[in-house]
Amino acid sequence: MLETIGQPPHPPSHQAQGASQRGAIILAGITRIFAGSIPAVDGVDLKIEAGEFFTLLGPSGCGKTTLLRMIAGFETPDAGRILISGKEMQDVPAHKRAVNTVFQSYALFPHLNVADNIGFGLRMQGVKKPERAKRVAAIMELLQIGQFAKRNAAQLSGGQRQRVALARALVNEPEVVLLDEPLSALDAKLRNELQIELLRMQKRLGMTFIFVTHDQHEALVMSDRIGVMSKGKLQQVGPVLDVYEKPRNVFVAEFLGLSNIWPIQPVGGGMADTPLGPLRITADIGAARMAMIRPEKIWIYNDHQAPIDKPNIFKGVVREAIYMGASTQYRVETQAGQTVLALDTNNAAAERSWRAGEAVAVEIKPDNIMLIEA
Ligand code: ATP
Repeated sequence: MLETIGQPPHPPSHQAQGASQRGAIILAGITRIFAGSIPAVDGVDLKIEAGEFFTLLGPSGCGKTTLLRMIAGFETPDAGRILISGKEMQDVPAHKRAVNTVFQSYALFPHLNVADNIGFGLRMQGVKKPERAKRVAAIMELLQIGQFAKRNAAQLSGGQRQRVALARALVNEPEVVLLDEPLSALDAKLRNELQIELLRMQKRLGMTFIFVTHDQHEALVMSDRIGVMSKGKLQQVGPVLDVYEKPRNVFVAEFLGLSNIWPIQPVGGGMADTPLGPLRITADIGAARMAMIRPEKIWIYNDHQAPIDKPNIFKGVVREAIYMGASTQYRVETQAGQTVLALDTNNAAAERSWRAGEAVAVEIKPDNIMLIEA
C-alpha cells in the first residue's frame, strides 16, 4: 500500500532515545521561505526509519538541498520541527548533530594525505592515535582506498577523491549520513559502480542514509524508499516499487520513468472514453480523470497478427524506433493520431522488432492501466 503523505507524523513529546530511534528522523511541518520568494520547502511531513536508505528525488530547484541542509543544521526552518534519534534539533547547532554530510564537491584538504584527510574529524574529537589509525584503516579497506593512504588528496582521480570524502563522513560513525548528489560529477561507469558499493556499505553499516538526487535511475537503484519533491512539497513517498508502479499523479509518473498518460471520461461498465478511443480499465474508475501505463507494459504486434479477441487493441504506424541495446523504444502513432510509447526487450528473434513506417498494433492491457491524479 502507498504510504500517505500530508498526514503529519506525531513527534514524541518527550526526548527519550530508544535504541530503535537511533538514526530515525522525523520532520513535521518543515517550511523554509527565503526572503521575497515562494517557499523553497513547504510544510514537509516525513518519517525516515533508522537504517533506511531514503532518497529525495526531484528537479532542480524543488527544495531537496534546502531540506537536507535543515536536517544538517546549516539552515534554520521558518516553521516545523526536526527530530533526529528522538531528539528535538531546534537548539542543536550543526556540529553537535549526529549527522555527517557528503557534498557533490569533494572538499578535501589538499595538503593532507588520504589517511589524514579521513582521520581529521576523529583527531578534532580527541580520538587517540592508535584508535584513530585502526578506524581509518578499517574504513579505507571497506572503500578499497587503502593503497592511496599516503597519497596527497590532490593526486587522486575524481572517483578516488569521492571515495575519500565518503570515508571521511563514515569514519565518524554518524547516526545519519546526508548525501547531496555525491556521485553527479563522476562518469557513468564509475557512478554505477559507486552506487552499488554505497548501497552495500549502507546495508552493512546500518546507518540511515538520506540521498539527494535529480537522477531517477540512481533513485530507483539505490533507495529503500523515495520521496518525490516538486515546488517544495513532497508529491509522493513510498517504497521504490510502489512509487514507480503506482505513481500518485502526473508529475510523479513523468518524473520517475517514461509513461503514457491520457485524460479519460468514464462511461460505465469498466470503460472510459479517451483520445485513443474507448478503453477498458480493470481498476475501479470511479471519478478518475487520468489513465497511465508504462511503455514496457505495452505489447506490440505486426499489424496482421494483432489479436482480434482482446480489448484495447489500437492499430497504428511506427514513427520512431530507438535501439538502446537491451531494449528498443517505439513511438507509435495510432489511427486516432495519438502517440503511444512502447518499450520492447531485445530478447526475441528479429521478427519482434519494427522499423519506422511499419504498420503495427499496440495492446494496452486493462490490468496494466493505472488511474492517477492530474
Ligand atoms: P538543485 O538540484 O538545483 O540543487 P534543489 O532541489 O536542491 O535544486 P534548492 O537548492 O533547495 O533546490 O533550492 C530551492 C529553491 O530555493 C530554489 O528556488 C532556490 O533558488 C532557492 N534558494 C536556495 N537557497 C537560497 C538562498 N540561500 N537564498 C535565496 N533563495 C534560495
